[in-house]
Amino acid sequence: SRAFPLRRLLQPLLAARHVTLHTHVQADGDGTGSQAAVAAWLEGRGIRVSVVNPTPFPDSLRFVLHRQDLVADLGTPEADAALDDADLHLVLDTSEPGRIGGLAQRLDPARTLVVDHHPAGREVVGEVAVQDPSAAATGEMVYDLITLAGDPVPRASALGAYVALVSDTGSFRYGNTTPRVLAVAAELMTLGIDPEVVYRRLFATAPRRRLELLREALATLDSDEDGRIGWMVVPHEVAARLGATGEDFDGLSEHVRSVEGTEVALLFRETKPGETKISLRSNGAADVNAIAREFGGGGHVKAAGALVHEPAETLVPRVVEAVARALRG
Ligand code: 5GP
Ligand code: MN
Ligand code: MN
Repeated sequence: SRAFPLRRLLQPLLAARHVTLHTHVQADGDGTGSQAAVAAWLEGRGIRVSVVNPTPFPDSLRFVLHRQDLVADLGTPEADAALDDADLHLVLDTSEPGRIGGLAQRLDPARTLVVDHHPAGREVVGEVAVQDPSAAATGEMVYDLITLAGDPVPRASALGAYVALVSDTGSFRYGNTTPRVLAVAAELMTLGIDPEVVYRRLFATAPRRRLELLREALATLDSDEDGRIGWMVVPHEVAARLGATGEDFDGLSEHVRSVEGTEVALLFRETKPGETKISLRSNGAADVNAIAREFGGGGHVKAAGALVHEPAETLVPRVVEAVARALRG
């Protein structure tokens, strides 16, 4: 049970005056949903909260927050003021200094708590960290934390936890979809969450450029000889021409993984000239967390990523070779 470790967080959290909430660079539905859930809960307890992320809060996920003025992106005077005023920091959905950009220098480990569902890396940003890889999403742990406090789950927190679960389970389709996850989702529905509304906001509408990006990416679909490794490449010029943001790339690698016979799917996205983000997805035959770590990244066994200072052109063959090696065992 994760109740025991989470219990250690309640006393410091509920005794705080002002808590800043953080998640990893290029925030996703789990990180922001978890932030939204904690924010509404702590505010209900009369505790001040601020959301300070190392990269801009994604527009497409703004709906998850009960108040937009909670957000101050790192580097703004508002973010500095919040970080200076806060007596406690809570990092959600990562524990690694390398995943929180410029925040790593701003958080005093002695005043930083972590709630995360990734396997622990070498370095952890907070002195009190609860890391449970058996949780499908950080949002599932946050839901447990709120119920552990004995508090009713506010509706805004239910929305955050639900968005977190939907995001990290691929809408309740991936292997991390446990009976517990569905039970929590059912509970969140009872609290007023409408799955159709969330689906529409998260997936059923997207800017036109997102489909144009998909078209460009699909045109590069490639595989190794026996089709066990598949990949797509989006060069920097293409992303820049379309004005694609980080969120536009979410889910692209699923198209590669869906190709029959694919064991490992790769998406290479040049974030700027000479820098490439790799997304790795496995059907189980290879541990992509281990492969991502070879390139300075990490993640989960079936979904991982890395940011490498190298153009896609030279990086692609090196990563494909590393995956081939992993598949040979
Ligand atoms: P995505 O491919 O969707 O960006 O990331 C998949 C998973 O890989 C994320 O949930 C996260 O756990 C992990 N991940 C992605 N990029 C990085 C990275 O640069 N470093 C580490 N340590 N993990 C990453
Ligand atoms: Mn995440
Ligand atoms: Mn997550």
